[in-house]
Amino acid sequence: MRQYLSALVLCLSATGLQAQQSWQTVSEHVDFIEQPAKLRFYDSNQALIQGDRCALLVDAPGEFTQTQVFIAQLRKQLRVPLCYVLASHAHDDHLLGLALVQKHFPDAQLIVHQSLGDNFHLAHEQLNERLDGFVKSIALSTQRMEKLPEQEQQVWRGKIARAQARFKQWQSLAFSTPDKVISQATELDLGKLNVELLPFAAHTQGDIAVLVRDDKLLIGADMVDMLPYPGEGNYQAWLQALDELSQLPVTQVLPGHGSVLVTSDLTTPKAWLEAIVAHVKANPSTDVATLVETFPKRYQPQDDELAQRAYVMFLEAGIKRAKQAATTKD
Ligand SMILES: [Zn+2]
Repeated sequence: MRQYLSALVLCLSATGLQAQQSWQTVSEHVDFIEQPAKLRFYDSNQALIQGDRCALLVDAPGEFTQTQVFIAQLRKQLRVPLCYVLASHAHDDHLLGLALVQKHFPDAQLIVHQSLGDNFHLAHEQLNERLDGFVKSIALSTQRMEKLPEQEQQVWRGKIARAQARFKQWQSLAFSTPDKVISQATELDLGKLNVELLPFAAHTQGDIAVLVRDDKLLIGADMVDMLPYPGEGNYQAWLQALDELSQLPVTQVLPGHGSVLVTSDLTTPKAWLEAIVAHVKANPSTDVATLVETFPKRYQPQDDELAQRAYVMFLEAGIKRAKQAATTKD
């Protein structure tokens, strides 16, 4: 799903979607980098934590043009060396941009969850798929351009040339092997600041939340999104993780998509995930389309059309996932 959504941004014609991310200092040691609202379901937020000696970056934007802008801003914001980059999970909108960050900060150590570390070939494959996508997209645009009247071709020629120039910088991108693989709660010393890396198998098989106790702040990424994508989730473990996370001594929670949250907001994704499980369980022989239609309307987001569209897609994926989980148990 995320791959599908990011693919939309990949299209050359979608470059109009480019918009600035906002850098917000949310606590003494933490900057939150938030996607503009209209991109919030397409690309991810990041967090930058800086101690006295080292900085840790959580995630990178998945859309590479955005990542380039992000890296330029990152250089300005860093007060200490970037010692670590961490992937909150393996979805492309969080992970792939880290390959570009690694290229610019080759000394930064890559931290991943064990489930990603054990299957790191999947990260290489995702990245190669993305790069192949660029090649195909450029080829397709060139074909389309050639069918246009001569005066219209001019504009497209410029666009395609710019896309090719961008791609040239990316074509040899590759992830370096992860330096730290997290399978249990792990402390990281950033210089007069300890952060705690907390592994879960909730939104995906391998999620890492980052607790900055001194700042009463938690980076929960997609596990804590107000409208999370549940298509690859482990409902039981996820609900338990949300309970655990809401007990932590924090006041601010940073999601993977959307704006800064407070701890009590975690009841929103929890209620929705519980409702999906309950709805599927109560109607075991009902098909997915009907389950989507009959799902309680009170969970439908009241905000913009984008949220409504994402909601329907995410709900369908979530119901499929819950059905799948119910059948494997039988
Ligand atoms: Zn995700």
